[in-house]
Amino acid sequence: MDRAASHTDDFGGLVRRYPARVLRATSLIEVVKAVETAKTTGLPLAVRGAGHSTRGQSLVEGGVVLDMTGVEDVVVQGSTATIGAGATWESVIRETLKRGLTIPVLPDFLGITVGGTVSVGGVGGQSFRHGLLTSVVDRLTVVSGEGEVVSCSRDRNAGLFDAVRGGLGLCGVITDATIRLVRAPERVAIVKLRYRALGDLMADQRKLTDSGLLDYFLTSFAAEDGTFRLSIEGVKYLHAGERYRGEAILGELGEGAREATFQESAYFDYANRLAGLPELDRQRGRFHPWMAMFVPGSRGATFLADLLGRLEPRELSEGHLMTYVVDRRKIDTPIIRWPDEDWLLLVDIPPTFASLAEANSFSRRCVPILGRARALGAVMYPIGFPVGTEHMTRDDWRRHFDWDRLVAVKRKVDPACRLGAPLGAITRADLQG
Ligand SMILES: Cc1cc2nc3c(=O)[nH]c(=O)nc-3n(C[C@H](O)[C@H](O)[C@H](O)COP(=O)(O)OP(=O)(O)OC[C@H]3O[C@@H](n4cnc5c(N)ncnc54)[C@H](O)[C@@H]3O)c2cc1C
Repeated sequence: MDRAASHTDDFGGLVRRYPARVLRATSLIEVVKAVETAKTTGLPLAVRGAGHSTRGQSLVEGGVVLDMTGVEDVVVQGSTATIGAGATWESVIRETLKRGLTIPVLPDFLGITVGGTVSVGGVGGQSFRHGLLTSVVDRLTVVSGEGEVVSCSRDRNAGLFDAVRGGLGLCGVITDATIRLVRAPERVAIVKLRYRALGDLMADQRKLTDSGLLDYFLTSFAAEDGTFRLSIEGVKYLHAGERYRGEAILGELGEGAREATFQESAYFDYANRLAGLPELDRQRGRFHPWMAMFVPGSRGATFLADLLGRLEPRELSEGHLMTYVVDRRKIDTPIIRWPDEDWLLLVDIPPTFASLAEANSFSRRCVPILGRARALGAVMYPIGFPVGTEHMTRDDWRRHFDWDRLVAVKRKVDPACRLGAPLGAITRADLQG
């Protein structure tokens, strides 16, 4: 399972780190062996899924990178699936759809791994109904920093279960996850609505959250011809024999939707619509200084108005911003200190640049945006900026996590702080005392 070092960068393209070894596991036993290797050599270990985080989260200088993409079995039993952590969501739903089932909350891009997504949270256009993907995980197999294999759930080893969901691999290597499934629709009716005014869009977003008129939706702010094009994209799930008259939704929403288009698609094709996106993005440029944050719902409109005022559309190089509504009451990921409101808005800023200089310049532009978000009580989604920069200090990590909970679990399962060392979030000194 040892192979030439190739895992020196990630989707962001902004960070380069040279590991001493890259180990690719294909089974639980190989994961244990990789952790043992880190233990006997004294090297830090970075766990890597698809490497689609953007600030070096899955990279390590001089340490061991454990590549999980070979741990990819998917076993569907009744209404759950037990999935190898290195499986991509695309391979998962290809398998579950054979039984007419799917995952309640899916990320928009299905090329990321189950372990990588559970380690950050997992947001989708269904999060207004189901919370994060971590909420629908029922059981995990985890290998601790000491090489011990632990099965955990809400009832068994609950401390570890709570520390690894959203825990960025700091307390264990997830090797498989058992996830609840729901009946999959056969087709989806796609609704696209365009707006001129942010207030109208936000009012309709609120209505869609409360009404359940759609099963999935997001808002998008696309940089186009020197302006931001405001839109909502949503879908209604259609089961066998069901039909949907898209126009009916207009009567339920405000007057602000200026244009509406309606289409239908097979469910899988819609869920996997971004399959070509990373390749397309790479053609446009290989630097992705991404940033995303959970803003308290009550401050969402203020934050967005400020953000759209601060950013020039051309700064996003024809990219776009997106927002997703998340029901905080359903998040069930206690390792993170969530804003104390029922509704959160995930604001996602994912630009692409052709040069590192442009990408770094954009990251500097993100600093005041970060300050503004934090002042409004936002929590960072640690998939991109400011992770790995001086703007995510040890104190920021202390505020991000439920620190006492993290320290208590880490002391037990990874006292040598082998796991997640490159994040600089927690050190051995934190575990003493
Ligand atoms: C094109 C694109 C679209 C995206 N869309 C969405 C979206 O719709 N919704 C959303 O929520 N996110 C989205 N993301 C962000 C994505 O969910 C995170 O970056 C995720 O962590 C990437 O998963 P990965 O498999 O690439 O993990 P990596 O980037 O390899 O790892 C991410 C983190 O998880 C840890 N980790 C990985 N595997 C394991 C494991 N088995 N056990 C323990 N720790 C592990 C790593 O050490 C690292 O800290 C998107 C990213 C991209 C690039």
